[in-house]
Amino acid sequence: MNVTRRQFIKLSGAMAATLAVVELGFDDKKAKASAKEFKIAKIKPTPTICPYCAVGCGILVYSDGKDVLYTEGDPDHPINEGSLCSKGTTLRQVYTSDRRVKKPMYRAPGSDKWEEKDWDWALNKIAEKIKETRDKTFITKENGITVNKTEAIACMGGAALDNEETYLLSKLMRAGLGLTYIEHQARI
Ligand code: SF4
Repeated sequence: MNVTRRQFIKLSGAMAATLAVVELGFDDKKAKASAKEFKIAKIKPTPTICPYCAVGCGILVYSDGKDVLYTEGDPDHPINEGSLCSKGTTLRQVYTSDRRVKKPMYRAPGSDKWEEKDWDWALNKIAEKIKETRDKTFITKENGITVNKTEAIACMGGAALDNEETYLLSKLMRAGLGLTYIEHQARI
């Protein structure tokens, strides 16, 4: 980087001013914390689980009903006790990113294009496909033993599911549909 004489003098001045403020004992952390407090002071946070990895850290989401204003580690959560890794710290970007996918996207067999679909369409399509595959591949007996299973569908649980949701998912897949290939992100 090329710095002109004038820019060098300006930069030096700014650095000296910053150092002087710190030397005088001005605590800028306090000022920043106060500003943050004002923005979210009247908002009750919603606790959630970080969706990124199997650690499952607790996160507090501050929203005014229209926008997600701030997210932070949940100090009462037994796993992370308020701390977050760099990925979890940026969770708000899941909401603010202009690359966020907000509707189900569908690519038909053989097509090279993604189409936007609504949720009813997507859920019906998934249900139809599960039924069709299960009906075609269901095995009732193996070596004379009742097995009632299909090996043609697999289920993968995600880190954003909590204990109870994972339990229900496993029940539905195992007892309801007869799946044998059931995995969870936390084991991988
Ligand atoms: S904050 Fe980091 S360590 Fe915790 S669940 Fe999210 S990605 Fe995993």
